[in-house]
Amino acid sequence: MINLILFGPPGSGKGTQAAKLVEQYNLYHISTGDMFRSEIGNKTELGLLAKSYMDKGALVPDEVTINMLAKRVEDNPKVKGFIFDGFPRTVAQATALDKMLAEKGTPITALLELVVPAEELIVRLMNRAKTSGRVDDGKPNIIKNRIQVYRETTAPVANYYDEQDKTYKVKGLGSIEEITTKLTDALDSVLTTV
Ligand code: AMP
Repeated sequence: MINLILFGPPGSGKGTQAAKLVEQYNLYHISTGDMFRSEIGNKTELGLLAKSYMDKGALVPDEVTINMLAKRVEDNPKVKGFIFDGFPRTVAQATALDKMLAEKGTPITALLELVVPAEELIVRLMNRAKTSGRVDDGKPNIIKNRIQVYRETTAPVANYYDEQDKTYKVKGLGSIEEITTKLTDALDSVLTTV
């Protein structure tokens, strides 16, 4: 079983690349951002709560996020592996995920980090806003907040997995295909050693 974390700041291409890796490795994709947006669309209590954080570019509290993720993992016991996109975003989420996967006997295989400079992220998110309809794209102050949250709270997750020798950094610049190749090369090298 392969369990991947696709990691990187907002606008680094996690969603786009997750779709490619899902196809190539037959993994089940879990995006906590997509899950929250679906809850918002269905006007659920969880959606309302999540929206109040997301619209400001802040993180939804750990407990709510971890419970939602845990349920999605439990609901899919038969899949070949997971690709986690946008989760974990805090070290507390990472330790909860490790605990959950340890109980299943299927630990994280690798964390693949897309490295993209902040100036490029801002340009991408401003562009994405034209079609995404997302309140958190397109507003420079909210984008800046999201990037700052990433640096302060989320980036330590890459160090946490680096201590387990599981973090692999990949430059997230160039064409979509070029970046996919870099990710699959990194992952294939891990898979040949495990
Ligand atoms: P994303 O689609 O991954 O960019 O996520 C959009 C927003 O959803 C984030 O800015 C957060 O407000 C919220 N969110 C998504 N995943 C998480 C998470 N793992 N922990 C906390 N908040 C999250």
